[in-house]
Amino acid sequence: MTKKLELFINGKFIQSETKDWLEVLDPSTQEVLCEVPLATEKEINLAVESAKEAFLEWRDTPPPERSRVMMRYQDLLKKNQEEIAKILSKENGKTLEDAKGDVWRGIEVVEQAANITPLLMGETVENVAREIDSYSYIQSLGVCAGITPFNFPAMIPLWMFPMAIACGNTFILKPSEQDPMTANKLAELFLEAGAPKNVLQIIHGGKSQVDELLKHPDIKAISFVGSVSVGQYIYKTGTEHLKRVQSFAGAKNHMVVMPDANKAKTIDNLVGSSIGAAGQRCMAISVAVFVGSSKEWIEDLKREMQMVKPGPWDSEESGFGPLISPQAKDRVIRLIEKGKEEAKCLIDGSRCEVEGFPNGNWVGTTLFTNVKTDSEIYKTEIFGPVLLCIEVETLEEAIELINANPYGNGTSIFTASGKAARKYRHEIEVGQVGINVPIPVPMPFFSFTGWKQSFYGDLHAYGKQAVRFYTETKTVTERWFEDDEKSSKNLTINLE
Ligand code: NAD
Repeated sequence: MTKKLELFINGKFIQSETKDWLEVLDPSTQEVLCEVPLATEKEINLAVESAKEAFLEWRDTPPPERSRVMMRYQDLLKKNQEEIAKILSKENGKTLEDAKGDVWRGIEVVEQAANITPLLMGETVENVAREIDSYSYIQSLGVCAGITPFNFPAMIPLWMFPMAIACGNTFILKPSEQDPMTANKLAELFLEAGAPKNVLQIIHGGKSQVDELLKHPDIKAISFVGSVSVGQYIYKTGTEHLKRVQSFAGAKNHMVVMPDANKAKTIDNLVGSSIGAAGQRCMAISVAVFVGSSKEWIEDLKREMQMVKPGPWDSEESGFGPLISPQAKDRVIRLIEKGKEEAKCLIDGSRCEVEGFPNGNWVGTTLFTNVKTDSEIYKTEIFGPVLLCIEVETLEEAIELINANPYGNGTSIFTASGKAARKYRHEIEVGQVGINVPIPVPMPFFSFTGWKQSFYGDLHAYGKQAVRFYTETKTVTERWFEDDEKSSKNLTINLE
């Protein structure tokens, strides 16, 4: 019988009472791995109620004690990294090495959450007026919720709940219904790390479960990562229900290739960052902008790209895995077909087969040149192993082209010139910039700072910005009287 994935409510893994279940498929074979429930309204209310109750005690738990839970958690995650990565690879399709990276980049955020106390320090000023002192406290919000995408089933939930919980909140996670098993494993280890039983709850489902969270009066803040249209919907609906919302959305990331760059390093980095994880990364490079004579490298790029092949997650031969679903594959193939009308196709991965895996969602490496900025393949986030090449004459032209793009998640420049790199990082309107680094995902003591249509909200994920997102500031103004002090009425707003 097919395994039925459980919800995690009130510290227990429980079988949902719903009648609506979805199959979770191995993207290399279509084998059914489990069935995921679409949680009922009653179950969601129970999870929120339980998280609300847990908050009363958790918010008063001293931050160093909360840190110790995170210290044990990061240790357990490290010990179980391989096992989590195997669950993740099976349901998501990415190679085992890449899945270990997915877990690792999440562990780094848990390490940050384990050091939460200094980040929760307020400010003080003595004598803001004569004998009046002011100081502020950072206090927790309440029940927060997170809605996560399929492409990083470990890292992105770990961007959210460890920071929110370390800040003294309780958390409801709604992972992607396409690869939900990893989240349950993360919760199991969190409990094992000694977290109080109901500070984290997991609700499974899709749109209607998300809608319940968006309008639930007891949820104070929503963190979302996913596609642009859903990201906009989440931001609008969440704020309409007067919640704090941070919404991370889609992207189109450009790499600028200067003619003075190290050629071999540039090509290797371009290949890895464009087709790694089958291009299903929000920070994947999907457009290479060749400046001046660097366009002569496109033939070498083609040769190197052709050598990387997709395959199953557990084969060391596989450069990357399948797309997440047959629907995702159909969508990418439709865009490749469109691209053949709009640009010049140097490598066509649309008819890709992998021996022994006839039912996998395979798409091979695909490379287009002569791409125009008004074409559909340029304007759309393809989310497949597809790289577009554009040629320009100058760095200024490259900057102008990229700044005109509506997305602003990540970008990089490959060059040997400090002057060109400085100009680029200063003038480019993108929130995360790599200089000879292709995928500049910031470490967790910074924040993940996408711009423009790649992000809706004010405060970003992890780092100091996450602490501000998941907390309130309370400012106190204080004075003490002598018993025999003369009194008078102050009819102004001045502090005196
Ligand atoms: P998605 O938007 O389809 O789904 C994300 C989450 O939203 C899932 O949990 C899903 O159940 C839920 N959802 C889907 N449709 C919904 C709807 N109509 N109403 C409410 N909730 C809904 O995204 P995906 O396909 O899982 O992930 C890929 C996308 O995520 C890409 O666009 C990628 O660029 C983006 N992404 C962005 C970042 C970032 O940091 N900016 C990081 C990773 C992924």
